[in-house]
Amino acid sequence: MVESIRLKAERPANLGDVRRLGSGVQAWCNACRHWAQVPCDNLPDDTIVIHLSRRLRCSRCGSKNIEVRPDYSNLTPKLPGERKKAKP
Ligand SMILES: [Zn+2]
Repeated sequence: MVESIRLKAERPANLGDVRRLGSGVQAWCNACRHWAQVPCDNLPDDTIVIHLSRRLRCSRCGSKNIEVRPDYSNLTPKLPGERKKAKP
């Protein structure tokens, strides 16, 4: 099946991907909804972003039920086919 082969070839984002985009990493606590930026300056580029959650504990409630995701909020979404900013 072509679809499953394509899915297998994909890999989760690592810190190198995040750094190339000039983005950071956010951690969310599933227990109390506290969130914070994760300081990962000292970690290698091949660190898988979602694996960081195993090392984290919520600084507010102490839970280890943490979700980690790349913070792409610095990137501007573009519509398909959009190349230039529309002039007013
Ligand atoms: Zn918490």
